[in-house]
Amino acid sequence: MSIEAPFPELGEVMELMGEAGKRLSEIDASEGAAGNISVYMGWQVDPRRKFPLTQTITLPDPVPELSQGGLLVTGSGRRLRDVIDDPVSNLGFVTVHPDGKTATLYTSPTCLFARLTSEFNSHLAIHQDQVRQTGTNFHSVIHAQPPYLTYLSHVPRYQDEKYLNQHILRWQPEQIVQLPEGVGYIPFCLPGSSELMAKTLVALRSHRIALWGKHGVIARSDLSVKRVSDRIEYAETGARYEYLNLANQEQGEGLSIEEIRSICAAFNIQQTIF
Ligand SMILES: [Zn+2]
Repeated sequence: MSIEAPFPELGEVMELMGEAGKRLSEIDASEGAAGNISVYMGWQVDPRRKFPLTQTITLPDPVPELSQGGLLVTGSGRRLRDVIDDPVSNLGFVTVHPDGKTATLYTSPTCLFARLTSEFNSHLAIHQDQVRQTGTNFHSVIHAQPPYLTYLSHVPRYQDEKYLNQHILRWQPEQIVQLPEGVGYIPFCLPGSSELMAKTLVALRSHRIALWGKHGVIARSDLSVKRVSDRIEYAETGARYEYLNLANQEQGEGLSIEEIRSICAAFNIQQTIF
């Protein structure tokens, strides 16, 4: 998918990032300064009215494919719930130089952070991988820490992707419709490590959301940043039902495989989970 002109204005994208951050905070998926959001816009954007200050930054891994446009990114230590009230102070804008190794970081005079999110490496790598694979001109990525999904990743039997999806996607008819590829599962890796980044790239080629074992989730969309927060919320709701069921001696039936297959047939959903 690509977005067609007229492209959204910078202010509109910032507002949607704020709304996504607020919603993630409402579902307890971004305690303290946990979580981060970035959006790649593959067209020319002049950020200087909102972000007049500039500095050159060095990128950890070259991302020349992202030099066609720019990225809005949350600052390190900033709270996702605060973006909505003061986006320019909590976000930075990055344009990648044609060599892909350096970039210009644009910030506001009221900027509240010294560096971009510590997960910026992973975000850049995911954006570049998706642009390379699909040619999209728009891509959003969110990392958040929803408690029920993260808790289930601590229980050994949910550390199997098929088992996880068969159990969290059986509680509401919408779940298989919204998450037909299910949630990718990545066993615990050191946060920010190249191992985690490499496994995340692979998982996000065939899924739109992946669970980082014992840590949180990472999700993406080439349509809108709100789609990403919605997707996290659908998966987290499924995990919450699953947790409720565990706490209630597993008395809930859940939708049967036949019921889920009939939903897929009626809504023309291709899936391999059930
Ligand atoms: Zn995290």
